[in-house]
Amino acid sequence: MDILLNDSIISREDLTIDLEDRGYQFGDGIYEVVRIYERQLFEWEAHAKRLEYSAKELMISLPVRIEELYQNLLKLIKKSSVSVGYVYIQVTRGTAPRAHGFPENCKPNLIAYAREMARPLMKMKNGVRAVTADDIRWLRVDIKSLNLLGNVLAKQKAIEAKAEEAILIRNGIVTEGSSSNVFAIREGKCFTHPANHYILNGITRQLVLRLLNEIGVAVEEIPITKEELFEMDEIFITSTIHEICPVIEIDGVKIGNGAPGVLTGKLQSLFDKLIFPASSI
Ligand code: PLP
Repeated sequence: MDILLNDSIISREDLTIDLEDRGYQFGDGIYEVVRIYERQLFEWEAHAKRLEYSAKELMISLPVRIEELYQNLLKLIKKSSVSVGYVYIQVTRGTAPRAHGFPENCKPNLIAYAREMARPLMKMKNGVRAVTADDIRWLRVDIKSLNLLGNVLAKQKAIEAKAEEAILIRNGIVTEGSSSNVFAIREGKCFTHPANHYILNGITRQLVLRLLNEIGVAVEEIPITKEELFEMDEIFITSTIHEICPVIEIDGVKIGNGAPGVLTGKLQSLFDKLIFPASSI
């Protein structure tokens, strides 16, 4: 596997991670996952903007300029021969003797790699099951930080229940999925949690909001309760990896008629046209 280390591409065997890298000891870092479709980075500008936002909020200075990072990622994708997959980018505050406060003169470490990963076509077509789980995460999940234990534990709960996703509930309110955003539709109206410090403002979420606006569906970015979740006609999750994926059952209870919803399907086809504009005519 080829790795982008700051601004050079090296092989995985030559990569060393220092034991005092703050990402390793404190989870003191940020990341992005960007989809690769046909060797291109999908929605790069939005991901780049969020990476800069996460860096700013944690007072980490990115070690390379965004334009340079973009060019290096394209080189990495080419070298790794990934056609459909994702690129993982991680920036940690740097390496220094262990102490909680920010070290002086600490240089951030950036690594990135690309992996082949097919689109989840069957899940998108048939829908998936979800469970609910307590949202026990910290209160700045708008930052895409490496601190993911709350997400990891929730996802494990889903896996053990043979479900795809855990829908997180904080004080009775649906926030988001363990690795996705949650949308709900009732009587033709779409609901999703507002983009504040309780959710990660997903790039796919932002794109879906644009699509809903384009097709004239009323959207309310307001919190919904766990109880309301079960009264919805359609529910879907969105993420870079899941794209737009119908949720047909939550905690063993069917959503709507227990099949992927019509509006969800419509959004999926609009999304397809954004991924493959040339083949959409
Ligand atoms: N929310 C959480 C907690 C996530 O981890 C993710 C993606 O991994 C998302 C939402 C969706 O974000 P995006 O659409 O940018 O992938």
